[in-house]
Amino acid sequence: MLDLWYSENWSDETKFSIKVKEHIYSEQTPFQKIDFFVSNEYGRFFTLDGLIMITEKDEFSYHEMITHVPMCTNLNIKNVLVIGGGDGGTVRELTRYSSIERIDMVEIDERVVRLSQKFLPFTADKLTDRRVTLYFEDGLKFVKECKDKIYDLILVDSTDPISVGEGLFSKEFYEDCFRILKEDGILVNQHESPYYEKYATEMKKAHDKIKHIFPIAKVYQFHQPTYASGHWLFGFASKKYDPIKDCSTENWDKLGIETKYYNTEIQRACFVLPNYVKKKLEE
Ligand code: SAM
Repeated sequence: MLDLWYSENWSDETKFSIKVKEHIYSEQTPFQKIDFFVSNEYGRFFTLDGLIMITEKDEFSYHEMITHVPMCTNLNIKNVLVIGGGDGGTVRELTRYSSIERIDMVEIDERVVRLSQKFLPFTADKLTDRRVTLYFEDGLKFVKECKDKIYDLILVDSTDPISVGEGLFSKEFYEDCFRILKEDGILVNQHESPYYEKYATEMKKAHDKIKHIFPIAKVYQFHQPTYASGHWLFGFASKKYDPIKDCSTENWDKLGIETKYYNTEIQRACFVLPNYVKKKLEE
């Protein structure tokens, strides 16, 4: 009997593995290698250059937490920019707000979107929403060339800071995001993990840059079983609103959005960080 496993190194001496039922697709694009798998434990999942992006079983925590924390902070958000996010999960969560008028998604690799539409309809099926415009180009270039302060919210749903995703962790990129956000704009970005050294170093580097650009710069946590250590972070940077003091939890609850991970108690609790994480961020 075939004993097929997908494995990912979480550190030089730690691996995470999923038993694979079927390796359904593989393609090398000009940007990265894309693979789709089926497993019993995690359902369908896909990798870019050998690293897990999303699995059917746990994608909900990432996509709900990147979206609902800033939305609950300012329920008047109307224009949103998503950078990366080719699987469509972040856009799916945004489309649940009828108040959002425009969602621009900038994904460098069109093949991620097209293959997600084929293999991952559970995340990609809202990419055809009438409010969504897809741009297939480098997010770094897109924000550089964007002239106006047009966005209320920018969500950076990126890969790790290696290869094509590296620029999305640069000071220059964060400065451009600040410039194109409205006076009360919010930026949420994929912020790596505090646990294993190589991820923690990137977490710290990203936070150090953002806190010098935005007046409010915080970090919040969530549980993502298939990302290194399972303990993962988003960065919350804002020109005006504080995610705890200014959030509208009662109004958010009234919207009746059904979620599997996020709730308005988590809105406040997710900003409470363990001591070793606080220390690392403050160092
Ligand atoms: N949730 C995932 C995680 O944290 O691992 C991220 C998934 S999402 C598929 C990441 C996407 O960012 C990829 O599809 C990749 O092509 C895209 N991406 C990477 N660098 C980019 C860039 N410079 N501009 C736009 N999109 C980029």
